[in-house]
Amino acid sequence: MIVVMKASSSQDEIDRVARRIEESGLKAHISQGVEHTIIGVVGQALSEIRDMLQLLPGVDEVIPVSKPYKLASREFHPQNTVVKVNNLTIGDDGVIIIAGPCAVENEEQLLATARGVKACGANVLRGGAFKPRTSPYYFRGLGMKGLEMLAKAREETGMPVITEVMAPRDVELVASYADIVQVGARNMQNFILLDEVGKLKKPVMLKRGMSSTIQEWLLAAEYILAQGNEQLILCERGIRTFETFTRNTMDISAIPVIKRVSHLPVIADPSHATGKWYLVAPLALAAIAAGADGLMIEVHPNPDQALADGAQSLTFDNFQGLMSQLAPVAQAAGRKLATPGTKVEP
Ligand code: PEP
Ligand code: MN
Repeated sequence: MIVVMKASSSQDEIDRVARRIEESGLKAHISQGVEHTIIGVVGQALSEIRDMLQLLPGVDEVIPVSKPYKLASREFHPQNTVVKVNNLTIGDDGVIIIAGPCAVENEEQLLATARGVKACGANVLRGGAFKPRTSPYYFRGLGMKGLEMLAKAREETGMPVITEVMAPRDVELVASYADIVQVGARNMQNFILLDEVGKLKKPVMLKRGMSSTIQEWLLAAEYILAQGNEQLILCERGIRTFETFTRNTMDISAIPVIKRVSHLPVIADPSHATGKWYLVAPLALAAIAAGADGLMIEVHPNPDQALADGAQSLTFDNFQGLMSQLAPVAQAAGRKLATPGTKVEP
């Protein structure tokens, strides 16, 4: 349930409500809105608690939240969450572009891609150092060496970097290199991992599990939020369906659904959603038209030589082509392209 405080309520009244919630063995999450303060009651609340809270001074209304995910719901947090990465904001009117190779392969490949995507206007550099692969015999990433290369690319280009963490034991390590920590589709319901990234004071991007419903995805987000990390971005990356032409089926409808039921920013990954480079641009445009807050695009200097996901990777020329198509679509959707977030905090 959520407690909506009166616009005129004092800080003392807000604190008292939060205290009474905690005394009942529940958690209080205070969200300061423009007009009202809303206090989320997290845990299994009984109806007696609802009656008790209703009587406290400063309380306007106590409303049961119909959704099983509370902190992720728009009922609890009516205004959009805006995630900040250096001077880049994700979830406001700017559309952000994350681009880079599927996997960090070597320094030359990463730096060339970083320079290439930055020149085209990308805001964030992506690159996997720990790669979840379907077969154990595929290239599984450079691990620690890959993280160091990402740090070097950030230093040279000033671009913030995003990279995946696969194991709870690596969360601190990956977070010490990444500006955004990615939880991949295959780990969307790794609840121990979700708890650990929830303890970070750093943005996290949670990809949708390949066979997960929107509700399961939001409940996974709830794990991260419940640990106190509110700097959370969702990423739609396609789901498994009966169709085999594409690698996955991009669930475009998930984007406006998320915008409606949640306050979290949502970006789209047409690369993993389609598995085919020539489908990336049309689906990217469709995602922006549907209200996505950004895109994640795989780009490689030589896709035919890529160690992972070459078939869905764009060349620099193709990425440039996509970037030039984005602005008018963003504008038609009432958005603009974000200004590059290249300032790195010391
Ligand atoms: C990735 O973005 O590197 C990745 C592995 O994607 P997904 O988890 O969506 O399959
Ligand atoms: Mn990939």
